[in-house]
Amino acid sequence: MKNFKISHNFSRKDFSCKCGKCDNEFRISLTIVGIVEHLKGKFNKRIKIVKGYLCEEYSKEVYGHDKDYHHFGKAVDLIIEEVPLKEVFKEVESMSEITGIGVYPAENYIHIDIRDKDREIWVKERSEKIPMSDRLRTQYDLL
Ligand SMILES: [Zn+2]
Ligand SMILES: [Zn+2]
Repeated sequence: MKNFKISHNFSRKDFSCKCGKCDNEFRISLTIVGIVEHLKGKFNKRIKIVKGYLCEEYSKEVYGHDKDYHHFGKAVDLIIEEVPLKEVFKEVESMSEITGIGVYPAENYIHIDIRDKDREIWVKERSEKIPMSDRLRTQYDLL
């Protein structure tokens, strides 16, 4: 794989498929890259892209289909080192271009995507996606 910079702080390998079988296939929306750069500027901490693009095979393996936003290059799962999940959540919730937000407390990361639909926010609990509610906001300190 040829690595190359795609923005000031990020390169292809940050967003490419990490299945280990494909040649680090890669597709990412510049809107997503812009969002991640914004978060970098806001918190000035290392951002780890847990999951960026997923190739077709990996997408099918993980989700059972290839219609997920990661495969479209429109989603990332990320951890911002030294920044509490709730701070990251507060920031991404304030950004209107982000239309999908998933909070994964067990894994300590946040999924964001730019789906072309009404905004959806959820928390992953015991491998289930639960729509955000007051109870969850209180429970995970996401107020
Ligand atoms: Zn792959
Ligand atoms: Zn995700």
